Amino acid sequence: MDTILVINAGSSSLKFEVFAVADTLARQIKGKMEGIGTAPRLSIRNVGGDQLAQEDYPCELVADLPSAMRLVGQWLHGRIEGRLIAVGHRVVHGGPNHAGPVKVDDSLLRELEWYTPLAPLHQPNNLAPIKVLLERQPDLAQVACFDTAFHRGHDPMADHYAIPTRYFEEGVRRYGFHGLSYEYVAGRLAEVAPDVAGGRVIVAHLGSGASMCALREGRSVESTLGFTALDGLPMGTRCGQIDPGVLLYLLEQHGLSARQLQDLLYKESGLKGLSGISNDVRDLLDSEAAGATLALDHFVHRIGLNAGALAAALSGLDAFVFTAGIGENSPAMRERIARKLAWLGVSLDVERNNAGELLVSSDDSKVKVFVIPTDEELMIARHTFALIAAGGAEPAGTPQLYA
Ligand code: AMP
Repeated sequence: MDTILVINAGSSSLKFEVFAVADTLARQIKGKMEGIGTAPRLSIRNVGGDQLAQEDYPCELVADLPSAMRLVGQWLHGRIEGRLIAVGHRVVHGGPNHAGPVKVDDSLLRELEWYTPLAPLHQPNNLAPIKVLLERQPDLAQVACFDTAFHRGHDPMADHYAIPTRYFEEGVRRYGFHGLSYEYVAGRLAEVAPDVAGGRVIVAHLGSGASMCALREGRSVESTLGFTALDGLPMGTRCGQIDPGVLLYLLEQHGLSARQLQDLLYKESGLKGLSGISNDVRDLLDSEAAGATLALDHFVHRIGLNAGALAAALSGLDAFVFTAGIGENSPAMRERIARKLAWLGVSLDVERNNAGELLVSSDDSKVKVFVIPTDEELMIARHTFALIAAGGAEPAGTPQLYA
């Protein structure tokens, strides 16, 4: 039996999954090392949910991502049944040129390192496990799957900022992110509702990171995220869309350094900054504090405004899909957001929504509303398998071919 390992490396965690390659890709093992550099803890479960490992490590032993990768590799060694044919990695930024997954080699790694300034908090972490594996197992096939790739089919006009075009050529453009999630959801929608999947659809990926994507015939035509993962909707700790004049003000009047500004916008803003309480929607829903009300009202308001913009990009709307932590798990938030979208023809069925069914709109809703759990890791495994099966060449055409 052949297997594929999927790696999703964040700032302080390393998530991994093992898939068996059979008629379909079958998830076998799911694990994560959390608290890297602070309180490292490895937990691993099998597909039935049984705990295979739960272990705390001294901080010095798992001080960074490379050491976490080595420990995870040691644990997996001898436990992966069959032959490991490839490792698929989530990489946040593929730059302007990659509209699909790519097999990793030294020159690709150098190219991807070049994009680090465009995603300073994510890209170095995504690349760290790739480097470790390239050094230790140079013959093991590795595939980079990009969060930007799904959006590369946009009309370039839409990806410009209205600043001199030389900056666009340099790479300052609207890339869009959460692409692996949108690609998976677009594929699922085509399976469960082929009648609407070929139409005009907005997908709302509402998790600790949040964005929305406009799909026409299953392809991304617009997204609320832009040059970095800061734009668009307010998120758990990120600010979302902001007048650049505010940044100039903070630089000039408050004397903030670039680093301080980065921390403010990425880590201290969004729901956390507005509420002064928490970045977690569950805490805010449970709270009666004015800050919690303000943060949730603002979040819903901005989703409504952005949905209007995306509906304009699509010249109408046939379906709206909720996904990710908030979208999949919170009937209360879905209900509040749906009320904002009533003018577009959205009407929820209370019972279906409370039960979290696949279709949560009422029978007479002009716009069908779905809840579709995302699965970025399965998307990465599919891409990795497809690329290896194709001999490792970068696929021509659009990433939808691999959904
Ligand atoms: P994700 O990044 O997709 O894992 O989503 C994580 C976020 O989902 C958390 O920060 C919570 O704000 C939110 N979330 C998860 N479960 C619920 C729930 N039952 N109700 C409201 N929000 C939730």
